[in-house]
Amino acid sequence: MHDTILQSIGRTPLVKLRRVTAGLAPTIAAKLESLNPGGSTKDRVAVAMIADAEKRGWLRPGGTIIEATAGNTGVGLAMAAAVKGYRCVFVLPDKMSSEKIALLRAYGAEVVITATNVPPDSPDSYNGVADRLAREIPGAWRPNQFTNLSNPEAHYRTTGPEIWEQTDGRVTHVVGGVGTGGSLTGVGKYLKEMNPDVKVIGADPEGSVLSGGSPAAWKVEGIGEDFVPRTFNSQLVDDWVRIGDAESFHTAREVSRREGMLVGGSCGTAIAAALRYARRLTASDLVVVLCPDTGRNYLSKMYDDSWLAANNLQMVPEVPHTVAELL
Ligand code: PMP
Repeated sequence: MHDTILQSIGRTPLVKLRRVTAGLAPTIAAKLESLNPGGSTKDRVAVAMIADAEKRGWLRPGGTIIEATAGNTGVGLAMAAAVKGYRCVFVLPDKMSSEKIALLRAYGAEVVITATNVPPDSPDSYNGVADRLAREIPGAWRPNQFTNLSNPEAHYRTTGPEIWEQTDGRVTHVVGGVGTGGSLTGVGKYLKEMNPDVKVIGADPEGSVLSGGSPAAWKVEGIGEDFVPRTFNSQLVDDWVRIGDAESFHTAREVSRREGMLVGGSCGTAIAAALRYARRLTASDLVVVLCPDTGRNYLSKMYDDSWLAANNLQMVPEVPHTVAELL
């Protein structure tokens, strides 16, 4: 029996992909981070950042956590704040979906909505407002997951060792997307320390600058950047695979339908990258794919046919339906 829900974070299952991998030689397995209690890999990061701030005296009893995020990190922080009795304030632009706002409020967090149509450096932008609240509210602390090194550290201490143990040290490749880079950096560093031959493969949306392409907009949430975050060590990445939105979403939907794993869009990007990369691998290879969150977060987006059509993301004929069709 756990004392609190926070103790149930981590030790997520690693599950083989069996059908979408037809025709490919290596074993490919998904690290299902959606099975953390807050529903994503960011639970690990949220508790690690809070523990570090408590240790350093930046966050004290009765303190307030302030962050400009509507994503998975917000949910992790809100869940941990609920358990530990901190006040939590999230500042979000008004384009965020009502489900995301409702989810944060359900955990007892306060949500401040700011206008989207202001310049990013304006005091009225969501970052500007979060900065002001952090100055004005006594005992306020901003975790800032893009610069906070507890983020990669959390994955170095937990996700990496879990993958090593779950594969009995046989993992040869790890594939994942990069948002803050915390997960791929922490996992990659740990696995390379255990076996320097382990290869780290970055899965990047077309339009992200991380893999060296020219900047453009993309729709997959949580990964790809127009800058290199402090929490990302790009030197750990041996190879990049770039994946377009349509292929990411199609792959996620195929994995849900054919493997029974309801995965999010960034899992689709990572799995699509793994399937492509696996064509050059052998039966002795074991590829682990980091799957950050669940498809439940995207039922009204990529799992909705009319949303795909409205965004011109129906399958283009040259994108294969299964890897078997590729070979
Ligand atoms: N996918 C989703 C859905 C996410 O919310 C995040 C976190 N931004 C990531 C992938 C990327 O994880 P990381 O920040 O560890 O690079």
